[in-house]
Amino acid sequence: MTGYDAIIIGTGQAGPSLAGRLVAAGRNVAIIERKSFGGTCVNTGCIPTKTLVASAYAAHIARRAAEFGVTIDGKVGIDMKAVKARKDAVSGTSRRGLEGWLRNLAGCTVYDGHARFVAPGRVSVGDELLEAEQIFINVGGRASAPPIAGLDQVDYLTNSSMMEIDFLPRHLIIIGGSYIGLEFAQIYRRFGADVTVIELATRLIAGEDEDVSLAVTEILRGEGIDVRVDARSLAIARDGADIVADFTCGRVSSRIVGSHLLLAVGRRPNTDDLGLDKAGIAVDARGYIQVDDQLRTNVPGIWALGDCNGRGAFTHTSYNDFEIVAANLLDNDLRRVSDRITAYNLYVDPPLGRAGMTEAEVRASGRPASIAKMPMERVTRAFEKGETRGFMKILVDQDTRLILGASLLGVGADEVIHTLLDLMYAKAPYTILKRAMHIHPTVSELLPTMMSELQPLQ
Ligand SMILES: Cc1cc2nc3c(=O)[nH]c(=O)nc-3n(C[C@H](O)[C@H](O)[C@H](O)COP(=O)(O)OP(=O)(O)OC[C@H]3O[C@@H](n4cnc5c(N)ncnc54)[C@H](O)[C@@H]3O)c2cc1C
Repeated sequence: MTGYDAIIIGTGQAGPSLAGRLVAAGRNVAIIERKSFGGTCVNTGCIPTKTLVASAYAAHIARRAAEFGVTIDGKVGIDMKAVKARKDAVSGTSRRGLEGWLRNLAGCTVYDGHARFVAPGRVSVGDELLEAEQIFINVGGRASAPPIAGLDQVDYLTNSSMMEIDFLPRHLIIIGGSYIGLEFAQIYRRFGADVTVIELATRLIAGEDEDVSLAVTEILRGEGIDVRVDARSLAIARDGADIVADFTCGRVSSRIVGSHLLLAVGRRPNTDDLGLDKAGIAVDARGYIQVDDQLRTNVPGIWALGDCNGRGAFTHTSYNDFEIVAANLLDNDLRRVSDRITAYNLYVDPPLGRAGMTEAEVRASGRPASIAKMPMERVTRAFEKGETRGFMKILVDQDTRLILGASLLGVGADEVIHTLLDLMYAKAPYTILKRAMHIHPTVSELLPTMMSELQPLQ
Protein backbone atom coordinates (compact mmCIF):
# COMPACT_ATOMS: atom_id res chain seq x y z
CA MET A 1 0.00 0.00 0.00
CA THR A 2 1.44 3.36 -1.07
CA GLY A 3 0.03 6.44 0.60
CA TYR A 4 -0.52 9.83 -1.06
CA ASP A 5 -2.21 13.05 -0.06
CA ALA A 6 -4.32 12.87 -3.22
CA ILE A 7 -5.09 10.41 -6.00
CA ILE A 8 -6.38 11.60 -9.38
CA ILE A 9 -7.98 9.03 -11.69
CA GLY A 10 -7.79 10.05 -15.36
CA THR A 11 -5.81 12.70 -17.22
CA GLY A 12 -8.69 14.48 -18.95
CA GLN A 13 -9.27 18.20 -18.86
CA ALA A 14 -9.45 18.57 -15.06
CA GLY A 15 -7.02 16.05 -13.54
CA PRO A 16 -3.63 17.28 -14.79
CA SER A 17 -4.30 20.93 -13.91
CA LEU A 18 -5.48 19.85 -10.48
CA ALA A 19 -2.30 17.80 -10.04
CA GLY A 20 -0.30 20.94 -10.82
CA ARG A 21 -2.16 23.01 -8.23
CA LEU A 22 -1.97 20.29 -5.57
CA VAL A 23 1.78 19.72 -5.85
CA ALA A 24 2.34 23.49 -5.85
CA ALA A 25 0.50 23.48 -2.52
CA GLY A 26 2.94 20.87 -1.23
CA ARG A 27 0.73 17.79 -1.64
CA ASN A 28 2.04 14.40 -2.67
CA VAL A 29 -0.08 13.31 -5.65
CA ALA A 30 -0.63 10.12 -7.68
CA ILE A 31 -2.27 10.41 -11.10
CA ILE A 32 -3.48 7.35 -13.01
CA GLU A 33 -4.06 7.05 -16.77
CA ARG A 34 -5.11 3.86 -18.53
CA LYS A 35 -4.69 4.95 -22.12
CA SER A 36 -3.87 8.28 -23.79
CA PHE A 37 -2.78 11.33 -21.82
CA GLY A 38 -5.14 14.23 -22.33
CA GLY A 39 -8.19 11.99 -22.72
CA THR A 40 -10.99 12.63 -25.19
CA CYS A 41 -10.35 16.28 -26.05
CA VAL A 42 -6.72 15.77 -26.98
CA ASN A 43 -6.92 12.35 -28.65
CA THR A 44 -10.39 11.68 -30.07
CA GLY A 45 -12.44 14.84 -29.49
CA CYS A 46 -11.98 18.59 -29.80
CA ILE A 47 -8.39 18.88 -30.98
CA PRO A 48 -8.35 16.23 -33.74
CA THR A 49 -11.85 17.10 -34.99
CA LYS A 50 -11.13 20.81 -35.17
CA THR A 51 -7.90 20.01 -36.99
CA LEU A 52 -9.97 18.04 -39.51
CA VAL A 53 -12.47 20.93 -39.69
CA ALA A 54 -9.53 23.16 -40.69
CA SER A 55 -8.47 20.75 -43.48
CA ALA A 56 -12.05 20.50 -44.70
CA TYR A 57 -12.37 24.31 -44.69
CA ALA A 58 -9.19 24.61 -46.75
CA ALA A 59 -10.67 22.19 -49.31
CA HIS A 60 -13.94 24.13 -49.36
CA ILE A 61 -12.26 27.48 -49.91
CA ALA A 62 -9.91 26.01 -52.53
CA ARG A 63 -12.94 24.81 -54.52
CA ARG A 64 -14.42 28.31 -54.25
CA ALA A 65 -11.11 29.96 -55.21
CA ALA A 66 -12.44 31.38 -58.48
CA GLU A 67 -15.06 33.40 -56.55
CA PHE A 68 -12.16 35.27 -54.95
CA GLY A 69 -10.31 35.72 -58.22
CA VAL A 70 -7.81 33.03 -57.38
CA THR A 71 -6.95 30.47 -60.03
CA ILE A 72 -5.96 26.91 -59.29
CA ASP A 73 -4.64 24.81 -62.15
CA GLY A 74 -6.37 21.45 -62.15
CA LYS A 75 -8.70 19.80 -59.67
CA VAL A 76 -8.57 20.35 -55.93
CA GLY A 77 -7.44 17.05 -54.45
CA ILE A 78 -7.47 15.68 -50.93
CA ASP A 79 -4.56 13.61 -49.63
CA MET A 80 -6.27 11.76 -46.80
CA LYS A 81 -3.00 10.34 -45.48
CA ALA A 82 -1.62 13.88 -45.21
CA VAL A 83 -4.85 15.09 -43.59
CA LYS A 84 -4.52 12.36 -40.96
CA ALA A 85 -0.80 13.03 -40.50
CA ARG A 86 -1.54 16.70 -39.80
CA LYS A 87 -4.28 15.75 -37.36
CA ASP A 88 -1.99 13.25 -35.61
CA ALA A 89 0.80 15.83 -35.37
CA VAL A 90 -1.43 18.46 -33.72
CA SER A 91 -3.01 15.93 -31.39
CA GLY A 92 0.30 14.22 -30.64
CA THR A 93 2.01 17.49 -29.72
CA SER A 94 -0.64 18.12 -27.06
CA ARG A 95 -0.59 14.54 -25.76
CA ARG A 96 3.19 14.28 -25.55
CA GLY A 97 3.49 17.75 -24.01
CA LEU A 98 1.03 16.86 -21.27
CA GLU A 99 2.52 13.44 -20.61
CA GLY A 100 6.05 14.81 -20.43
CA TRP A 101 4.97 17.58 -18.09
CA LEU A 102 3.16 15.19 -15.75
CA ARG A 103 5.99 12.63 -15.66
CA ASN A 104 8.44 15.37 -14.71
CA LEU A 105 6.19 17.14 -12.22
CA ALA A 106 7.91 17.09 -8.83
CA GLY A 107 5.59 15.66 -6.18
CA CYS A 108 3.46 13.82 -8.73
CA THR A 109 3.75 10.09 -9.48
CA VAL A 110 2.22 8.82 -12.72
CA TYR A 111 0.70 5.33 -12.78
CA ASP A 112 -0.10 3.69 -16.12
CA GLY A 113 -3.09 1.39 -15.91
CA HIS A 114 -6.74 1.00 -15.11
CA ALA A 115 -7.76 2.33 -11.70
CA ARG A 116 -10.48 0.72 -9.59
CA PHE A 117 -11.79 1.55 -6.14
CA VAL A 118 -11.37 -1.27 -3.65
CA ALA A 119 -12.63 0.76 -0.67
CA PRO A 120 -13.59 4.44 -0.01
CA GLY A 121 -10.00 5.76 0.26
CA ARG A 122 -8.26 3.01 -1.70
CA VAL A 123 -7.62 2.45 -5.38
CA SER A 124 -5.90 -0.41 -7.19
CA VAL A 125 -3.83 -0.04 -10.40
CA GLY A 126 -2.58 -3.38 -11.68
CA ASP A 127 -0.74 -4.97 -8.73
CA GLU A 128 -0.38 -1.69 -6.86
CA LEU A 129 -2.62 -0.49 -4.07
CA LEU A 130 -2.81 3.24 -3.41
CA GLU A 131 -4.36 5.12 -0.52
CA ALA A 132 -5.26 8.79 -0.04
CA GLU A 133 -7.59 10.98 1.98
CA GLN A 134 -8.60 12.87 -1.15
CA ILE A 135 -9.53 11.20 -4.44
CA PHE A 136 -10.52 13.03 -7.61
CA ILE A 137 -12.30 11.12 -10.39
CA ASN A 138 -11.80 12.51 -13.93
CA VAL A 139 -12.54 9.45 -16.04
CA GLY A 140 -14.59 11.06 -18.84
CA GLY A 141 -16.86 9.13 -21.16
CA ARG A 142 -17.07 7.20 -24.42
CA ALA A 143 -19.41 6.81 -27.37
CA SER A 144 -22.58 4.92 -26.54
CA ALA A 145 -24.20 2.35 -28.82
CA PRO A 146 -27.98 2.25 -28.42
CA PRO A 147 -30.00 -0.86 -29.26
CA ILE A 148 -30.47 -0.43 -33.03
CA ALA A 149 -31.62 -3.53 -34.89
CA GLY A 150 -28.74 -5.22 -36.71
CA LEU A 151 -26.04 -2.96 -35.30
CA ASP A 152 -24.27 -5.94 -33.78
CA GLN A 153 -23.99 -7.50 -37.27
CA VAL A 154 -21.90 -4.72 -38.80
CA ASP A 155 -18.62 -2.94 -38.15
CA TYR A 156 -19.32 0.62 -37.18
CA LEU A 157 -17.14 3.62 -36.45
CA THR A 158 -17.21 5.95 -33.44
CA ASN A 159 -15.45 9.26 -32.83
CA SER A 160 -12.48 7.20 -31.59
CA SER A 161 -12.08 4.83 -34.55
CA MET A 162 -12.71 7.73 -36.98
CA MET A 163 -9.32 9.01 -35.84
CA GLU A 164 -7.60 6.06 -37.57
CA ILE A 165 -9.16 6.74 -40.99
CA ASP A 166 -6.61 7.71 -43.62
CA PHE A 167 -8.79 7.10 -46.68
CA LEU A 168 -11.95 8.60 -48.10
CA PRO A 169 -15.08 6.58 -47.34
CA ARG A 170 -17.16 6.29 -50.52
CA HIS A 171 -20.42 6.91 -48.68
CA LEU A 172 -20.44 7.64 -44.96
CA ILE A 173 -23.73 7.00 -43.18
CA ILE A 174 -23.90 8.87 -39.88
CA ILE A 175 -26.51 7.94 -37.30
CA GLY A 176 -27.06 10.97 -35.09
CA GLY A 177 -27.69 14.55 -36.17
CA SER A 178 -26.22 16.36 -33.20
CA TYR A 179 -22.89 18.09 -32.55
CA ILE A 180 -20.46 15.23 -33.16
CA GLY A 181 -22.37 13.76 -36.12
CA LEU A 182 -22.78 17.10 -37.91
CA GLU A 183 -19.13 18.08 -37.58
CA PHE A 184 -18.03 14.77 -39.10
CA ALA A 185 -20.74 15.06 -41.79
CA GLN A 186 -19.46 18.37 -43.10
CA ILE A 187 -15.79 17.38 -42.73
CA TYR A 188 -16.20 14.24 -44.84
CA ARG A 189 -18.53 15.86 -47.37
CA ARG A 190 -15.90 18.54 -47.95
CA PHE A 191 -13.25 15.84 -48.34
CA GLY A 192 -15.43 14.45 -51.14
CA ALA A 193 -17.42 11.59 -49.63
CA ASP A 194 -21.13 11.07 -50.08
CA VAL A 195 -22.64 11.62 -46.63
CA THR A 196 -26.07 10.74 -45.25
CA VAL A 197 -27.11 11.85 -41.77
CA ILE A 198 -29.93 9.86 -40.19
CA GLU A 199 -31.55 11.55 -37.18
CA LEU A 200 -34.32 10.01 -35.12
CA ALA A 201 -35.72 13.33 -33.85
CA THR A 202 -37.83 15.53 -36.09
CA ARG A 203 -34.94 17.91 -36.67
CA LEU A 204 -31.17 18.16 -36.35
CA ILE A 205 -29.61 19.52 -33.10
CA ALA A 206 -33.05 19.22 -31.55
CA GLY A 207 -31.99 21.06 -28.38
CA GLU A 208 -31.49 24.28 -30.36
CA ASP A 209 -34.20 26.67 -31.50
CA GLU A 210 -36.08 25.58 -34.59
CA ASP A 211 -34.78 28.47 -36.72
CA VAL A 212 -31.20 27.56 -35.78
CA SER A 213 -31.77 23.90 -36.48
CA LEU A 214 -33.40 24.61 -39.86
CA ALA A 215 -30.66 27.02 -40.90
CA VAL A 216 -27.95 24.48 -40.07
CA THR A 217 -29.90 21.81 -41.99
CA GLU A 218 -30.15 24.11 -45.01
CA ILE A 219 -26.42 24.86 -44.88
CA LEU A 220 -25.53 21.17 -44.75
CA ARG A 221 -28.01 20.21 -47.47
CA GLY A 222 -26.66 23.07 -49.57
CA GLU A 223 -23.26 21.37 -49.48
CA GLY A 224 -24.78 18.12 -50.71
CA ILE A 225 -25.24 16.28 -47.42
CA ASP A 226 -28.27 14.00 -47.47
CA VAL A 227 -30.12 14.81 -44.22
CA ARG A 228 -32.91 12.47 -43.09
CA VAL A 229 -34.83 13.42 -39.95
CA ASP A 230 -37.69 11.77 -38.07
CA ALA A 231 -36.27 8.37 -38.98
CA ARG A 232 -38.25 5.53 -37.38
CA SER A 233 -37.80 1.75 -37.21
CA LEU A 234 -34.14 2.07 -38.06
CA ALA A 235 -32.47 -1.23 -38.91
CA ILE A 236 -28.90 -1.82 -40.05
CA ALA A 237 -27.69 -4.74 -42.14
CA ARG A 238 -24.67 -5.81 -44.13
CA ASP A 239 -24.91 -6.40 -47.88
CA GLY A 240 -21.58 -7.70 -49.10
CA ALA A 241 -19.08 -4.90 -48.49
CA ASP A 242 -21.88 -2.35 -48.08
CA ILE A 243 -23.87 -1.23 -45.06
CA VAL A 244 -27.61 -0.82 -45.48
CA ALA A 245 -29.79 1.42 -43.31
CA ASP A 246 -33.55 0.91 -43.56
CA PHE A 247 -35.96 3.30 -41.88
CA THR A 248 -39.26 5.08 -42.34
CA CYS A 249 -39.96 8.81 -42.39
CA GLY A 250 -43.69 9.21 -41.92
CA ARG A 251 -45.21 6.69 -44.33
CA VAL A 252 -42.22 6.66 -46.63
CA SER A 253 -39.76 3.78 -46.38
CA SER A 254 -36.15 4.66 -47.10
CA ARG A 255 -33.04 2.63 -47.76
CA ILE A 256 -29.55 4.10 -47.72
CA VAL A 257 -26.64 1.98 -48.90
CA GLY A 258 -23.26 3.21 -47.75
CA SER A 259 -19.70 2.03 -47.43
CA HIS A 260 -19.11 3.05 -43.79
CA LEU A 261 -21.25 3.70 -40.73
CA LEU A 262 -20.48 6.24 -38.01
CA LEU A 263 -22.43 6.07 -34.78
CA ALA A 264 -22.81 9.51 -33.17
CA VAL A 265 -25.76 9.11 -30.85
CA GLY A 266 -24.45 10.23 -27.52
CA ARG A 267 -21.93 9.44 -24.83
CA ARG A 268 -21.83 7.41 -21.65
CA PRO A 269 -19.59 7.89 -18.59
CA ASN A 270 -16.59 5.62 -17.94
CA THR A 271 -17.94 4.65 -14.55
CA ASP A 272 -19.09 1.07 -15.07
CA ASP A 273 -15.65 -0.47 -14.46
CA LEU A 274 -14.39 1.83 -11.72
CA GLY A 275 -15.46 -0.17 -8.64
CA LEU A 276 -17.64 2.73 -7.47
CA ASP A 277 -19.79 0.32 -5.48
CA LYS A 278 -16.74 -0.70 -3.40
CA ALA A 279 -16.41 2.91 -2.30
CA GLY A 280 -20.18 3.49 -1.96
CA ILE A 281 -20.16 6.32 -4.53
CA ALA A 282 -23.66 7.15 -5.80
CA VAL A 283 -24.41 7.31 -9.54
CA ASP A 284 -27.62 8.20 -11.36
CA ALA A 285 -29.60 5.85 -13.61
CA ARG A 286 -27.25 6.55 -16.55
CA GLY A 287 -24.07 5.96 -14.55
CA TYR A 288 -23.10 9.61 -13.99
CA ILE A 289 -21.49 10.21 -10.61
CA GLN A 290 -23.74 12.34 -8.45
CA VAL A 291 -22.10 15.50 -7.14
CA ASP A 292 -23.10 18.65 -5.29
CA ASP A 293 -22.51 22.25 -6.36
CA GLN A 294 -18.82 21.95 -5.40
CA LEU A 295 -18.41 18.60 -7.17
CA ARG A 296 -18.25 16.52 -4.00
CA THR A 297 -19.64 13.00 -4.25
CA ASN A 298 -21.74 11.49 -1.47
CA VAL A 299 -18.53 9.99 0.01
CA PRO A 300 -16.43 12.49 2.01
CA GLY A 301 -13.01 13.08 0.45
CA ILE A 302 -14.05 12.01 -3.07
CA TRP A 303 -14.83 14.43 -5.91
CA ALA A 304 -15.90 13.83 -9.53
CA LEU A 305 -14.88 16.24 -12.30
CA GLY A 306 -15.57 16.46 -16.03
CA ASP A 307 -17.94 14.49 -18.23
CA CYS A 308 -18.32 11.66 -15.69
CA ASN A 309 -20.40 13.85 -13.34
CA GLY A 310 -23.04 14.70 -15.95
CA ARG A 311 -22.84 18.41 -15.14
CA GLY A 312 -21.16 19.29 -18.42
CA ALA A 313 -20.01 17.63 -21.63
CA PHE A 314 -17.29 19.95 -22.81
CA THR A 315 -13.63 20.60 -22.31
CA HIS A 316 -14.38 24.02 -20.83
CA THR A 317 -16.88 22.57 -18.32
CA SER A 318 -14.33 19.96 -17.24
CA TYR A 319 -11.62 22.61 -16.88
CA ASN A 320 -14.07 24.81 -14.99
CA ASP A 321 -14.70 21.84 -12.66
CA PHE A 322 -10.97 21.84 -11.90
CA GLU A 323 -11.10 25.58 -11.15
CA ILE A 324 -14.08 25.11 -8.83
CA VAL A 325 -12.47 22.26 -6.87
CA ALA A 326 -9.08 24.03 -6.66
CA ALA A 327 -10.71 27.29 -5.54
CA ASN A 328 -12.69 25.57 -2.81
CA LEU A 329 -9.85 23.38 -1.54
CA LEU A 330 -6.83 25.61 -1.93
CA ASP A 331 -7.97 29.24 -2.21
CA ASN A 332 -10.81 29.43 0.30
CA ASP A 333 -12.88 30.74 -2.61
CA LEU A 334 -16.41 29.33 -2.69
CA ARG A 335 -16.85 28.77 -6.43
CA ARG A 336 -19.80 26.65 -7.57
CA VAL A 337 -21.04 24.84 -10.66
CA SER A 338 -24.22 26.90 -10.56
CA ASP A 339 -22.14 30.07 -11.13
CA ARG A 340 -21.43 29.12 -14.72
CA ILE A 341 -23.41 30.09 -17.79
CA THR A 342 -24.23 27.57 -20.50
CA ALA A 343 -21.87 28.12 -23.44
CA TYR A 344 -20.62 26.03 -26.33
CA ASN A 345 -19.96 26.05 -30.05
CA LEU A 346 -20.96 23.75 -32.87
CA TYR A 347 -18.01 23.68 -35.26
CA VAL A 348 -19.76 23.30 -38.54
CA ASP A 349 -18.89 26.06 -41.01
CA PRO A 350 -20.20 28.64 -40.42
CA PRO A 351 -20.03 27.87 -36.70
CA LEU A 352 -22.82 28.19 -34.18
CA GLY A 353 -21.89 30.04 -31.00
CA ARG A 354 -24.25 29.61 -28.09
CA ALA A 355 -24.55 31.31 -24.72
CA GLY A 356 -27.27 31.16 -22.09
CA MET A 357 -30.90 30.41 -22.86
CA THR A 358 -32.44 29.50 -26.20
CA GLU A 359 -35.44 31.47 -27.45
CA ALA A 360 -37.62 28.45 -26.63
CA GLU A 361 -36.32 28.45 -23.04
CA VAL A 362 -36.94 32.18 -22.68
CA ARG A 363 -40.51 31.75 -23.95
CA ALA A 364 -41.08 28.82 -21.59
CA SER A 365 -39.83 30.90 -18.66
CA GLY A 366 -42.68 33.36 -19.28
CA ARG A 367 -40.55 36.40 -18.45
CA PRO A 368 -40.97 39.62 -20.48
CA ALA A 369 -38.19 39.59 -23.03
CA SER A 370 -36.97 41.34 -26.17
CA ILE A 371 -35.29 39.82 -29.18
CA ALA A 372 -33.04 41.03 -31.99
CA LYS A 373 -32.29 38.91 -35.02
CA MET A 374 -29.99 39.85 -37.87
CA PRO A 375 -29.16 37.85 -41.01
CA MET A 376 -25.44 37.57 -41.71
CA GLU A 377 -26.24 39.16 -45.09
CA ARG A 378 -26.36 42.47 -43.20
CA VAL A 379 -22.79 42.04 -41.91
CA THR A 380 -20.24 43.78 -44.11
CA ARG A 381 -17.38 41.61 -42.93
CA ALA A 382 -19.33 38.49 -43.88
CA PHE A 383 -19.83 39.92 -47.38
CA GLU A 384 -16.16 40.72 -47.71
CA LYS A 385 -15.29 37.17 -46.76
CA GLY A 386 -17.96 35.72 -49.05
CA GLU A 387 -19.54 33.91 -46.10
CA THR A 388 -23.03 35.32 -45.57
CA ARG A 389 -24.86 32.21 -44.43
CA GLY A 390 -26.61 32.22 -41.03
CA PHE A 391 -27.98 34.79 -38.60
CA MET A 392 -27.44 36.22 -35.13
CA LYS A 393 -30.10 36.20 -32.45
CA ILE A 394 -29.92 37.80 -28.99
CA LEU A 395 -32.52 37.81 -26.20
CA VAL A 396 -32.66 40.24 -23.27
CA ASP A 397 -34.78 40.51 -20.16
CA GLN A 398 -37.05 43.56 -20.40
CA ASP A 399 -37.08 44.14 -16.64
CA THR A 400 -33.44 43.58 -15.66
CA ARG A 401 -32.01 44.53 -19.12
CA LEU A 402 -29.64 41.58 -18.76
CA ILE A 403 -28.76 39.39 -21.73
CA LEU A 404 -30.56 36.08 -21.39
CA GLY A 405 -29.08 34.19 -24.28
CA ALA A 406 -27.69 34.22 -27.78
CA SER A 407 -27.45 31.95 -30.80
CA LEU A 408 -24.95 33.21 -33.36
CA LEU A 409 -24.73 31.17 -36.55
CA GLY A 410 -22.25 32.74 -38.92
CA VAL A 411 -18.66 33.40 -39.81
CA GLY A 412 -16.65 34.19 -36.67
CA ALA A 413 -19.55 33.33 -34.36
CA ASP A 414 -17.38 30.93 -32.33
CA GLU A 415 -15.34 33.94 -31.15
CA VAL A 416 -17.97 36.72 -31.25
CA ILE A 417 -20.15 34.81 -28.76
CA HIS A 418 -17.64 35.66 -26.00
CA THR A 419 -18.55 39.34 -26.15
CA LEU A 420 -22.04 38.40 -25.02
CA LEU A 421 -20.85 35.72 -22.62
CA ASP A 422 -18.55 38.12 -20.77
CA LEU A 423 -21.30 40.71 -20.54
CA MET A 424 -23.51 38.03 -19.03
CA TYR A 425 -20.83 37.10 -16.47
CA ALA A 426 -20.41 40.79 -15.66
CA LYS A 427 -24.19 40.98 -15.13
CA ALA A 428 -24.05 44.15 -17.21
CA PRO A 429 -27.17 45.50 -18.95
CA TYR A 430 -27.42 45.27 -22.75
CA THR A 431 -27.31 49.09 -22.86
CA ILE A 432 -23.56 48.90 -22.19
CA LEU A 433 -23.17 46.97 -25.43
CA LYS A 434 -25.54 49.31 -27.24
CA ARG A 435 -23.27 52.29 -26.47
CA ALA A 436 -19.97 50.51 -27.10
CA MET A 437 -17.92 51.51 -30.13
CA HIS A 438 -16.86 48.34 -31.90
CA ILE A 439 -14.17 48.00 -34.53
CA HIS A 440 -14.97 48.10 -38.26
CA PRO A 441 -15.13 45.87 -40.20
CA THR A 442 -15.92 42.96 -37.90
CA VAL A 443 -18.85 40.68 -37.20
CA SER A 444 -18.88 42.03 -33.64
CA GLU A 445 -19.50 45.60 -34.85
CA LEU A 446 -23.12 44.65 -35.51
CA LEU A 447 -23.81 43.71 -31.88
CA PRO A 448 -24.42 47.33 -30.72
CA THR A 449 -26.70 47.83 -33.74
CA MET A 450 -28.64 44.73 -32.79
CA MET A 451 -29.14 46.13 -29.30
CA SER A 452 -30.82 49.15 -30.91
CA GLU A 453 -33.16 46.90 -32.86
CA LEU A 454 -34.58 44.88 -29.96
CA GLN A 455 -38.28 44.09 -30.31
CA PRO A 456 -40.63 42.67 -27.68
CA LEU A 457 -40.74 38.86 -27.90
CA GLN A 458 -44.27 38.13 -29.11
C1 LIG B 1 -15.79 14.03 -31.45
C2 LIG B 1 -15.83 14.96 -30.26
C3 LIG B 1 -15.61 16.30 -30.44
C4 LIG B 1 -15.64 17.17 -29.35
N1 LIG B 1 -15.45 18.49 -29.56
C5 LIG B 1 -15.48 19.35 -28.51
C6 LIG B 1 -15.24 20.72 -28.69
O1 LIG B 1 -15.02 21.18 -29.80
N2 LIG B 1 -15.26 21.53 -27.61
C7 LIG B 1 -15.49 21.04 -26.35
O2 LIG B 1 -15.49 21.81 -25.40
N3 LIG B 1 -15.72 19.74 -26.14
C8 LIG B 1 -15.72 18.88 -27.19
N4 LIG B 1 -15.91 17.55 -26.98
C9 LIG B 1 -16.14 17.08 -25.61
C10 LIG B 1 -14.82 16.99 -24.84
O3 LIG B 1 -13.89 16.24 -25.56
C11 LIG B 1 -15.04 16.37 -23.47
O4 LIG B 1 -16.10 17.04 -22.85
C12 LIG B 1 -13.81 16.47 -22.61
O5 LIG B 1 -12.71 15.85 -23.21
C13 LIG B 1 -14.13 15.82 -21.26
O6 LIG B 1 -12.98 15.71 -20.54
P1 LIG B 1 -12.95 14.95 -19.18
O7 LIG B 1 -12.01 15.73 -18.35
O8 LIG B 1 -14.27 14.69 -18.61
O9 LIG B 1 -12.37 13.49 -19.49
P2 LIG B 1 -11.70 12.83 -20.76
O10 LIG B 1 -11.04 13.81 -21.61
O11 LIG B 1 -12.66 11.90 -21.37
O12 LIG B 1 -10.52 11.99 -20.08
C14 LIG B 1 -10.74 10.95 -19.19
C15 LIG B 1 -9.45 10.16 -19.06
O13 LIG B 1 -9.61 9.19 -18.01
C16 LIG B 1 -9.01 7.98 -18.42
N5 LIG B 1 -9.66 6.91 -17.67
C17 LIG B 1 -10.97 6.52 -17.74
N6 LIG B 1 -11.22 5.55 -16.88
C18 LIG B 1 -10.04 5.29 -16.24
C19 LIG B 1 -9.66 4.39 -15.23
N7 LIG B 1 -10.55 3.55 -14.67
N8 LIG B 1 -8.37 4.36 -14.83
C20 LIG B 1 -7.46 5.23 -15.37
N9 LIG B 1 -7.78 6.13 -16.33
C21 LIG B 1 -9.06 6.15 -16.75
C22 LIG B 1 -9.27 7.94 -19.91
O14 LIG B 1 -8.35 7.08 -20.55
C23 LIG B 1 -9.09 9.40 -20.31
O15 LIG B 1 -7.75 9.66 -20.66
C24 LIG B 1 -15.87 16.66 -28.05
C25 LIG B 1 -16.06 15.29 -27.85
C26 LIG B 1 -16.03 14.44 -28.94
C27 LIG B 1 -16.24 12.98 -28.70
